[in-house]
Amino acid sequence: MTNSLHGQTALVTGSSSGIGAAVAQELGKRGANVVVNYRSDEDGARKVVGKILNYGSDTLALQGDVSNADDIQFLFSQTLKEFGKLDILVNNAGIQKDAPFRQMSLKEWEAVLAVNLTGQFLCAKQAVEIFCKQGVRENVSKAAGKIVCMSSVHEVIPWAGHVNYAAAKGGVQMFMKSLAQEVAHEKIRVNGIAPGAVATEINRDVWEDKDGRKKMLDLIPYGRIGDGEDVARAVAWLVSDDADYIVGTTLFVDGGMTLYPGFREGG
Ligand code: NAD
Repeated sequence: MTNSLHGQTALVTGSSSGIGAAVAQELGKRGANVVVNYRSDEDGARKVVGKILNYGSDTLALQGDVSNADDIQFLFSQTLKEFGKLDILVNNAGIQKDAPFRQMSLKEWEAVLAVNLTGQFLCAKQAVEIFCKQGVRENVSKAAGKIVCMSSVHEVIPWAGHVNYAAAKGGVQMFMKSLAQEVAHEKIRVNGIAPGAVATEINRDVWEDKDGRKKMLDLIPYGRIGDGEDVARAVAWLVSDDADYIVGTTLFVDGGMTLYPGFREGG
């Protein structure tokens, strides 16, 4: 069993709610020190911090907007100040601003790209710099550092009415792969996680609505909507040494959503 994260420090962006909160807690449960980044929901972040402390791990809530370079510089420098090192970055923060293409404004397009894609770039830049300086500490992990880019099934499934989101997630896929190729020789592992439908704030309007929920379930061969913990356990494994030979891959955590369920009958 090599998936303990004891002695490692993780930073999870956008972890005051939803998938990020579940990931931060799971990493804390497995022994990592965790920085809980939030944009505005300080109360949410404090709750996550409380849960991690109950697992006996060290943790800290830090405010910062992933699309703002100065915030991100501060976020990583505070992380180093507090914990002295960084081993894991989970690039999780994300937003949706949906609209039919003809109604979508430039503002909506730019806002989603800024958080969902540029935010990953800004955070990864800081993390790679730190990992390269630190190098491999063999008593901690086989890798010098691990980055997980939170993507979506929409890195491969086109999504009408959400062209900004799908374009950003498609971008995340090639960002992740290109970066993985570039820094693997530094012993940095970069991978992606692509969730399917997970019940969180980002899609509450759909799963809370009876009709919306049914339509969602029709797209999931495994027959249930995911929860944050489904994704969190996959992230925890991916950043552990059990996954040490996994580099530049997207792991789909989607109950089979990418299996084209519409083709199950006929086609
Ligand atoms: P969520 O809304 O609960 O979480 C998103 C988090 O990102 C929030 O905590 C929010 O405050 C934070 N955030 C937003 N803008 C930020 C910014 N500028 N700086 C810092 N933090 C910011 O929704 P979620 O479903 O937990 O989403 C988490 C990630 O998972 C996103 O990247 C999303 O695209 C992805 N995802 C979600 C689903 C799903 O079905 N829920 C499916 C595929 C992918």
